[in-house]
Amino acid sequence: MESKKTIFLSYCWKDENIANDIDDYMNSIGIKLIRDKRDVKYKDSFKVFMKSIKNTDFVIMIISENYLKSSNCMYEVLETIKDDKYRDRILPIVLESSNVFMVKEWINYIQYWEDKCNSLKNELESLNITNLSGIIDELKILREIAMNIGGFLSVLKDMNCLSLDENKENKYKDILEVIGDGLLDKPVRVEEVLKTLAFENGYVPNDKYIITTCPTCGSEQNLMQASICKNGLETIYECKNGCQPIVVIGPPGTSSWEGRGYRIKENVIRNTKDLLVKVANDGKSILIPGSPNALAKRKHI
Ligand SMILES: [Zn+2]
Repeated sequence: MESKKTIFLSYCWKDENIANDIDDYMNSIGIKLIRDKRDVKYKDSFKVFMKSIKNTDFVIMIISENYLKSSNCMYEVLETIKDDKYRDRILPIVLESSNVFMVKEWINYIQYWEDKCNSLKNELESLNITNLSGIIDELKILREIAMNIGGFLSVLKDMNCLSLDENKENKYKDILEVIGDGLLDKPVRVEEVLKTLAFENGYVPNDKYIITTCPTCGSEQNLMQASICKNGLETIYECKNGCQPIVVIGPPGTSSWEGRGYRIKENVIRNTKDLLVKVANDGKSILIPGSPNALAKRKHI
């Protein structure tokens, strides 16, 4: 199996709400992002965490004015652009506040970092302390940011990246396309779930011989005829006439929920109407009764 790709979420704490939204959406479709809140343990070094950005497959960057004026964020940018191929790895989401597409605004950012650099330098000169290594390191970083931010902004402009609203509207399609579907799991069919049960007579489950009925149109159909798609962690079978979902397969919740479905190993099958599983040619079959809460969503988790 292909190993899962790693995606780092780089953002400014002032934009935390937006970061949460993106994180929640990605999580809902089965993509786990690496982010400071979750992945830096108490007393772990933030610098070490920020350096780990270099080793991830992709970096989603929430580009805002806050981001471009934060030394932590720009430090992550510096670590990212050390890699020659960083253009292929970054997935910027641009907020309006950043003005990155307006070249004349770039001067402001460059100026901002030069000013920061100069004021620290002046402070340093007026001090008379023997151990200045920490401050000198900080100054080095500021200088590097001031030197690199112009180039970074021009790469962003060149990439023609989408705004947050555009990304939201198309459900992050462009980003997901770049990441590839290595991250997204294939749909799980009922036959695969049933295969985890050992049948005495050597029966091999097949969706073609599993019959159900659509509650809306009443049409009887086998599960090969129904259309199938993946929505987040769930696989959804829809009536062949497009009426409604008829079977949903997903991971079990943290607590069991009566009437919601049938747990078989790592999956829960939720069927609105009975599923008739023909296990032998002689007409023998197993009935999986429809579950009353099959499609209900729990209100409070
Ligand atoms: Zn139907």
